Amino acid sequence: MATCKVCDDEVDSLVSVKVDGKAKKMCEDCADRAREQAEVAEASEAVVQNMMGFKGRR
Ligand SMILES: [Zn+2]
Repeated sequence: MATCKVCDDEVDSLVSVKVDGKAKKMCEDCADRAREQAEVAEASEAVVQNMMGFKGRR
């Protein structure tokens, strides 16, 4: 058994996920959430860049 440092739950195994370029160990649930958040962060950054580009052209 291992303890997930993100949610403090005891899980059978931890998985390693890269967050902000650092490998972190967490349970599968937190790993899924971390991956989703990373994707959302990337997507919202692209949206902001598009908006700024749009404003810049006007
Ligand atoms: Zn967890």
